[in-house]
Order: sequence, then structure tokens, then C-alpha cells
Amino acid sequence: MEFRDLKIQYKKYKNDIDLAIQGVINEANFINGKEVKVLENRLAKYVGVKHCISCANGTEAMSLLMMAWGIKEGDAIFIPDFTFFSTGEIVSFCGATPIFVDVDRDTFNIDPGKLEEAIIRIIEEGVLTPRIIIPVDLFGLPANYFEIEKISKKYDLLVLEDAAQGFGGSINEKKAGSFGDAATTSFFPAKPLGCYGDGGAIFTNNDELAELLNSLKVHGKGEDKYDNVRIGVNSRLDTIQAAILNVKLTAFIEHELESVNKVYQQYTERLQGIVEIPLINEGYISSFAQYTIKLKNEKERDSLHAKLTENGIPSVVYYVKPLHKQKAFSSYECNVDELEISTELSGIVLSLPMHPYLTEEEVNEITECIINSIK
Ligand SMILES: *Cc1c(COP(=O)(O)O)cnc(C)c1O
Repeated sequence: MEFRDLKIQYKKYKNDIDLAIQGVINEANFINGKEVKVLENRLAKYVGVKHCISCANGTEAMSLLMMAWGIKEGDAIFIPDFTFFSTGEIVSFCGATPIFVDVDRDTFNIDPGKLEEAIIRIIEEGVLTPRIIIPVDLFGLPANYFEIEKISKKYDLLVLEDAAQGFGGSINEKKAGSFGDAATTSFFPAKPLGCYGDGGAIFTNNDELAELLNSLKVHGKGEDKYDNVRIGVNSRLDTIQAAILNVKLTAFIEHELESVNKVYQQYTERLQGIVEIPLINEGYISSFAQYTIKLKNEKERDSLHAKLTENGIPSVVYYVKPLHKQKAFSSYECNVDELEISTELSGIVLSLPMHPYLTEEEVNEITECIINSIK
């Protein structure tokens, strides 16, 4: 059994994917081939925004926005404490200070109440300038943008939606990638929409921002890449990856998002009342980058993890450490008492195999093993 079965997906789409790759090789248009523009247009349309700017990976997508918005030393960026390292890394990388905010225990996403408290504290301290909120759509579930956007308006802050795991999710049919001032996603192979290497994209409705990002990602180009009007980086999505993504996006739209939500239902039916299962609030749809359960305590989590492994069932702890406990962030002061949920979660979470091709038999095997282990 695979945690996320990319081989079975390839088997199903082998013909189309092989043809797409071969097509790029035949044309030898490896950088900026026509498939890149086709993909960007399709992604923008699917997400429901004016612009999609593809780039090298999800981390760079966020870094490009930090560059575009001129984020620098002395700026405070508010991020959830419970997320992948990258969300905090890009803040430190441009010299700004990440402010770790605790998350909601049910949704795993940034807690709007605690977010506002953190903003007020930074304003009162008067040392750093609050600039951006980066909510993460953790495990595929969009963050609470109703509340977050109210807060961002009140304190005049930008919102960057980190939808690296959120692609395909939605709130009342408004798609992940369309919230905030700009959003980013990742096409890392194991993400809801993944390519066969690294890849990423930025979404925005802002024309000027889109133009600036398109310049920054190609050496600060002006008229062309040999006319350089600003300092930028080299951050493009390969044509081969775009060609693969064009095939996979069709599969994602046609059935994968629906299939993964069927698996979610099957898990729910079998695990309800046995362990704490993911909570998807009314109006929300998750793309289930992960299906994450909560156990009573660390001991129960670790023994279930071991039991599953013993039975050949892969499971992973996302995340073993909240950001504030990462050594790389040890120089930032933070009040540990305010980060109790993220600290608790790191001790009790366990992500189970989850992907659109997981069969009902496999779900039965996994859930029976869990039920036996919990008894
Ligand atoms: C994967 C991920 C990223 C980074 O994406 P890469 O393409 O691997 O650089 C950023 N944020 C979150 C929440 C992620 O899960």
C-alpha cells in the first residue's frame, strides 16, 4: 500500500502523459514552451482569478511575493505555527520576522482570534511593522478567510494564501487560490495537483502585481530577458512539467477531487467515534492533501503508528514539530503559552494513506487495523 499512490495514477494516464512529454521533446522547447501559457490560463480559469504566474516551486512562489511587496528587515509577518517549514522560511529569508500564531484545534488552520491578539501585541510593542498575514490551507482545507479578511482590513495588512496543500479546496464554491491579495501553490509530486519534479504558481487579480512577478521570475526582465530593469531571480516552470500538469489537471477536475472526497466519506463512516477525524465545516471543501486523525495522547499515537507500520500500512506524522520549536527559528522570541494547540497537535496527529485511487478494500484494511489497535 502506498501513502500517496502516484504509480497507479501514472498507469491510468500513461498514454496521455507519455505523449505530452514526447511532444515537448520533439519541439525542443524546454523553457517557455506553449504548454506553460496553456497551463497558466487553465489554472487561472479553474481558480477563478485573472492571473496565474507559474514558477519553479511553491517556496519560490511565496519568496517572489515577498520581493514584489518589498518585505524587509523590521517587518512582521503572521503565520500559523503548525505548517510546513517553508511558510516561515521565506519570511526569514528576506530578513523579516515571522510571528508564530496558534491554530484552531479542529481545522488545524490559523486561529483568527489569536491572530488578532498577535497583531495587537506587535503594534503595542512598536518595534516591528505588521505587513502580511500568511494563512495556510493546511491538509487541503481552506483557512477561515471570512475572519482573516476582516482582520486584514482592520489593520491594513496584506494576505498571502499559502495554498500549497489547498489546491482544489473551496469555501462556498470560491476556490482556494482566490483568497487574499495573492495566493501560491506547489506542484511538488505529492501535493493535490503534482508534477514530476518541482513546480509552483502564484494567483492574483492584481494586474500590476502580475506584471511585476513576471519580471522578477525572469531576472527582472523589462522588454525581454536581456533588458534587465530590476534585480530578480530565475524561477520558471519547465515546459515538460507544464505538459504533465495539463494532463493531470484534467484528471483532477474530472474525477480526482471527487474521488478523494469519497475516500474521506469512507474513512468518516468507519472511524467516527473511534478517533478524532478531520472536521470540514459547512460550506467548505477540502482537497485532502492529507487525511489527519488525532489520538488521545502521544503514547496512543506512537503505538498506532507502530501498529500500522507492522501491518504494512504507511502513515506519517505531519508535523513532528511546530515551527517555533525548529532550531532554525530559535532566535525568535515567542510566548510558548500562546502556542499550546500547535504543541499539542504535534504530539497527537497521524496522517493516513490518502489519494484518489485508494480503494474501499484498502480503507477497510486501514480502519480495521486502527480499530483493533485502539481497543
Ligand atoms: C509543500 C509546501 C510548501 C512549499 O512548496 P515546494 O513546492 O515544496 O517549495 C509551502 N507551504 C506548504 C504549506 C507546503 O505544504
